[in-house]
Amino acid sequence: MKGLAGKTALVTGAGSGIGRASARRFADEGANVVVADIVESSARETVDLIEAAGGDATFVEVDVSDLESVQRMVDVAVETYGSLDFAHNNAGILTGFTGAAELTEEKWDKLLDINLKGVWACMRAELPVMEAQGHGAIVNTTSEAGLVGMGGLSSYSASKHGVVGLTKSVALEYASRGIRVNAIAPGPTKTNIQSGMLGIAAGSRSLVDRVRMAIGMVRMAIQTLRFEFDTSAMRDVPMDRIAEPEEMAGAVAFLCSSDASYITGHTIPIDGGQAAD
Ligand code: NAD
Repeated sequence: MKGLAGKTALVTGAGSGIGRASARRFADEGANVVVADIVESSARETVDLIEAAGGDATFVEVDVSDLESVQRMVDVAVETYGSLDFAHNNAGILTGFTGAAELTEEKWDKLLDINLKGVWACMRAELPVMEAQGHGAIVNTTSEAGLVGMGGLSSYSASKHGVVGLTKSVALEYASRGIRVNAIAPGPTKTNIQSGMLGIAAGSRSLVDRVRMAIGMVRMAIQTLRFEFDTSAMRDVPMDRIAEPEEMAGAVAFLCSSDASYITGHTIPIDGGQAAD
């Protein structure tokens, strides 16, 4: 991938799933990587994996819904590596299948704060650094649920539609200033996001948390089945399989590379064909 070696990439939600795969891919391409996550233990595992493969990575603890914490993350990135060339604003949660009328304000606010405000907060801190450098590429993670509605996932879908609009708007603001802003819209991908259902941080290792996660998975399966009868919450994947996180990471690396130098404001579905259906 052209133009990534020797540069600095920041990835949020890098302790697990898509963020970990993206961080590892940036490192494989020769970039220095800032591994940012709210869960230190799993993010440190990502750093270890990168270092074991000969890469350079630095952990930064961040809560993307907290503007001060996000600003600190970007400051550490610049202090550590001297620049911020790429950002993958990827951290997100999924709180489970609930009808819109049954959602609590607390659950709505928490999800929107992380999934939508968090992406804005990251860009708010990253853009001035990139503008001062005169270049930069940002990739936000939205979802297939950001392109179509999903019954039972209204807050998640609203947050992810928001990320699509935010991506387009910021891309327009910065198109003539050397900064490209795009998004990926993953279809179903093998990650720990289901753990967010119980508010358990991904990467958690305690037995109690594992049992609670297992219970949460069963609950989610039941909720999914219930909603499948009523709605099209879970859509078929034409390719008949769910994605590996590495398949998302490839698109992130491409969008940051110089091969994508004329691409901005777009959301790329990586969904085994779902968007075509
Ligand atoms: P994951 O749960 O495996 O990873 C998410 C990571 O984000 C975790 O390491 C978690 O600790 C971190 N995180 C959560 N809240 C945070 C916060 N406030 N601040 C910083 N970090 C925080 O899930 P994933 O599937 O890899 O999800 C990554 C992104 O991909 C999310 O935005 C998700 O909505 C999106 N997505 C996932 C799928 C899928 O099927 N897995 C599909 C579409 C979109």
